[in-house]
Amino acid sequence: MSMRLDNLTFKGGVHVPDNKSMSSGKVIEKAREPKTVYISLQQHVGAPCEAIVKVGDKVKVGQKIGDSKAKVSAPVHSSVSGVVKSITKRYTTAGVKVDCIEIESDGLNEMDESIGKKAELDKLSKSEIIDIIRESGIVGLGGAGYPLHSKLITAEDCCAIGSSIETLILNGAECEPYLTCDHRIMLEHPDKVVFGLEVMMKYLDINEGYIAVENNKMDAIEALRNASKDKNIKVVSLKTKFPQGDSYRIVDAVTGKKVPKGGRCNDAKSSVSNVHTAYALAEAILENKPLYERVITVTGNGIKEPKNLLVKVGTTIGEIIEQCGGFNGKPGKIIAGGPMTGTALFSLDTPIVKATGGILVLTEEETRVEKVQSCIKCGKCVEVCPVYLEPLYIAAYALKDNYDAAERYDALACISCGSCSYICPSKRPLAEAISHAKYEIKARRK
Ligand code: SF4
Ligand code: SF4
Repeated sequence: MSMRLDNLTFKGGVHVPDNKSMSSGKVIEKAREPKTVYISLQQHVGAPCEAIVKVGDKVKVGQKIGDSKAKVSAPVHSSVSGVVKSITKRYTTAGVKVDCIEIESDGLNEMDESIGKKAELDKLSKSEIIDIIRESGIVGLGGAGYPLHSKLITAEDCCAIGSSIETLILNGAECEPYLTCDHRIMLEHPDKVVFGLEVMMKYLDINEGYIAVENNKMDAIEALRNASKDKNIKVVSLKTKFPQGDSYRIVDAVTGKKVPKGGRCNDAKSSVSNVHTAYALAEAILENKPLYERVITVTGNGIKEPKNLLVKVGTTIGEIIEQCGGFNGKPGKIIAGGPMTGTALFSLDTPIVKATGGILVLTEEETRVEKVQSCIKCGKCVEVCPVYLEPLYIAAYALKDNYDAAERYDALACISCGSCSYICPSKRPLAEAISHAKYEIKARRK
């Protein structure tokens, strides 16, 4: 276990302009009540939910409207009070077309009776904690969207077979350029972030927890250190570098342990959750509040008034952008998430899901496509790859449709961080080509 507390990092990665100043100083604002929400029944990896309401039903804020018996799945809740209008397929910010429950808001914001009932952590058993987490529909809010109860149960199962989890890390790196929602959560709600970590520590019987934050957010580090004084929690600073927030890279930086290729954090006796997830967990325990809203960053030179907004799940990006003054000129590209790992959006009617951390609008000038040149074998893509791949070769084979060779060069180990494409002086679409190879390799295995 590393004993250093500052400037921790991993080998590889790239220094990307963070472009966070447009929104990092903006206090979280509550978004306007949406007129209509479209709540996806597939918010995360794992099994989709089935609707437990039907067209014409009246629902309240926080009422469960979809659930599944599958092990890896989390229920969904209504984010407004109103009437169910339809259950149809549409694209969400996750980039997939899935069943969504359309609810027209009555504007009354009537809360489900269960919300507001506080539980006392000291008196909760492990099974009660896991039930609250599951019933609250909490998923990883750092982008992956993995159901939290499934993650904790898997970590506990590792303990049961003697491979105990020794390190629990809250991920506050927020290394993706432009995004600042995690920063604002840590700054404005450090007590809840710390409390959420304490809940996970209690569940996993871990005595010491870590919160790891990039050192371009020193005010958040200070707030968290104050909130965790006299607790068994260490707040460590990380070098500002992409992809520092990738969970395997954060385990490496904090503990010095490497997650084996194809393995999971549990294999390095570690478990990682996002700070925003810890905040949602605190609200679930303290207020019995399910996850029906989250903070997102709306930013970029293509937006008139960048903001950090508390937005109800299922709100369309059109409604959200309108509250930020609309577009600054003609938008070149609208992205759900950040520029390195986000998903391009094609319609303003797209609703956000639980894992949507940001909406980034780039200008036409910023999205001008640069001419792709031949590879000059400079090796820069190899130097920056955090999983030690040779992107130039994998991409070259992928572009020739030689997926067997791409697989031999370990294409499936790529974490799609985009560092290789970013650094390439010849502007080769390396990450895109490798993603395509991964898709083809997986498709052939089915
Ligand atoms: S960074 Fe670009 S030019 Fe350099 S070796 Fe990699 S693919 Fe070739
Ligand atoms: S090959 Fe994959 S993991 Fe390596 S830098 Fe490129 S996108 Fe990132």
